[in-house]
Amino acid sequence: MTDSAPKLYCANHPDVETSLRCNNCEKPICAKCAVLTPTGYRCKECIRGQQKIFETAEWVDYPLIFASVAILAYLGSLIAFRLGFFIILLAPLAGGAIAEIARSITRHRRSKRLYLLAAAAAILGCVPLGLQFILQFSLLGLIWHLAYTILMTSTLYTRLAGIKIG
Ligand SMILES: [Zn+2]
Ligand SMILES: [Zn+2]
Repeated sequence: MTDSAPKLYCANHPDVETSLRCNNCEKPICAKCAVLTPTGYRCKECIRGQQKIFETAEWVDYPLIFASVAILAYLGSLIAFRLGFFIILLAPLAGGAIAEIARSITRHRRSKRLYLLAAAAAILGCVPLGLQFILQFSLLGLIWHLAYTILMTSTLYTRLAGIKIG
């Protein structure tokens, strides 16, 4: 019997033979312990470590970002609706500015949920003025306001979430 390759046993299950290795830490892992990622199999420890790097937000960041983005988006909408057509140029700038302020308030801590919450807060901040236009039957005001809401929120989200890591 010739067996050139040394037998591997799962790091978590010493009695389970395996041919898989974590592509990050090289640890042998069995099928139960392996997690398939876009780059290959990883052990659960490495997956957990990865998530920690990507998700650095603390609980306090959530109410902070929600309140600040909602208020800024609301204040921005009060300025924006006076601008008419120029909203299209200025709404992305407003979204970028709000994103920068939100990032410095949360000290550049990151989390996907945090960005989604910021986008939700941005839309919520636009609700009061939107309701006002609806009650006034101001269709043109509502259209410009929707343009502001969409452009500002999408810029805010991509500015926050699109930051390259590492
Ligand atoms: Zn690993
Ligand atoms: Zn295992």
